[in-house]
Amino acid sequence: MKYISTRGQAPALSFEDAMLSGLASDGGLYVPESWPQISAEEITALARLSYEDAAFRIIKPFIGDTFTDDELRGILARAYAGFRHPARVPLVQIAPNAFIAELHHGPTLAFKDVAMQLIGQMFEAVLKRRGERVTIVGATSGDTGSAAIEAFKGLDAVDVVILYPDGRVSEVQRRQMTTPVEHNVHAVAVDGDFDDCQARLKDMFNDTGFRSEVKLAGVNSINWARVMAQVVYFFTTAVSLGAPHRKISFTVPTGNFGDIFAGYVAKRMGLPIERLVIATNQNDILHRTLQSGEHRKQGVMPSLSPSMDIQVSSNFERLLFDLYDREGEAVRQLMGELGAGGFALSQGALGRLRAEFDSGSCSEAETSTTIRETYARTGEVLCPHSAVAVKVAQEQKGAAPMVVLATAHAAKFPDAVQAACGLHPELPPHMADMFTRPERLTNCANDLAALKALILEKTGR
Ligand SMILES: *Cc1c(COP(=O)(O)O)cnc(C)c1O
Repeated sequence: MKYISTRGQAPALSFEDAMLSGLASDGGLYVPESWPQISAEEITALARLSYEDAAFRIIKPFIGDTFTDDELRGILARAYAGFRHPARVPLVQIAPNAFIAELHHGPTLAFKDVAMQLIGQMFEAVLKRRGERVTIVGATSGDTGSAAIEAFKGLDAVDVVILYPDGRVSEVQRRQMTTPVEHNVHAVAVDGDFDDCQARLKDMFNDTGFRSEVKLAGVNSINWARVMAQVVYFFTTAVSLGAPHRKISFTVPTGNFGDIFAGYVAKRMGLPIERLVIATNQNDILHRTLQSGEHRKQGVMPSLSPSMDIQVSSNFERLLFDLYDREGEAVRQLMGELGAGGFALSQGALGRLRAEFDSGSCSEAETSTTIRETYARTGEVLCPHSAVAVKVAQEQKGAAPMVVLATAHAAKFPDAVQAACGLHPELPPHMADMFTRPERLTNCANDLAALKALILEKTGR
């Protein structure tokens, strides 16, 4: 399996090289040159398997010869051993024909662990074999950073530098990034918002000199390996509810479009998905795009669901590539226009987008109401991101079972949850001492030169 860039001007790479480089050299994102197919019989056979064994079968066609079967099994076993539930991604019913898939049983209590724990193990295996050392730089709206730090801390071959928007992540999220004691972990509070952090990260990747000087590697949701890891739970969840013999719908709380794009990939691979619903908070660029056909940035408004406070939804580029018949030139032009504010989709592309996805958005008041009502009706305590999706899912009518992806544990956002339903969600025991541990972080201006200097200093290169 080869990986090609959405902008059509970078060399095709193996899985291993696409994973290590993150962003393509032409500024595009890597996608598989074709979608592997999984037959109805193969989907049926997943029903008997553990999460790890199902993951093996879904991931195998994507990795080429990067890992032997034994290596891949070992990687999967280590990646998910730290999850606190034997099903890894358990399903809970919240209403007739409505379910939530709990993606938050990993070490940092957010769904990012599902992919990040896997890619931590994959990086380690590849770098050990190559005898190389890399600097992982990530931008985070809160959850990616802690998941990356948890996955890479203490590894010999990696420095992890995480850029987060100062003052715009929850206290639990910040402490998850600033309290690990491992010396290869560096949390950087940037004077800006998440889109600034993400833009500076892209600048660093486009700076070829710096990129090779520090051996830059990216683990943001633009990294193909993360999207791939997320494809797995669409399969395992759907199979639990009767796929492939019955179609299943999903509603996904969406920011950077990684998680829902993984659902789209599952569908392309042959999983019978009835509807894929994009749920946004008040930062609703994707919902507006589906409604109007115009993909236009507005300012980011901080919300109760900060991990979705995003206007530049990076992985949307991967979808655009398919909507425009995989023509890199067309995508390159659109991304240029987005840099200047936005673009209009062609009629053909908009028609395909609407055929594949539905969408809805959820206000701040509706987020709180949904947390309160869901708790009162079912006893299930939702985090604000999951609540956004539950609200949007309630507006969708259809016969297929609806699965809402619950992307974080309520205890990660205790203030919003307590204000909504009166309950103070408790951290699990392994995190109970978080508020008494010393923090370690560096402040930095939203400035490329300053960030580059800081990274050189911290990593000693
Ligand atoms: C990252 C995140 C999201 C958004 O996921 P994307 O893949 O960026 O669309 C939603 N909820 C939580 C809790 C997250 O951490």
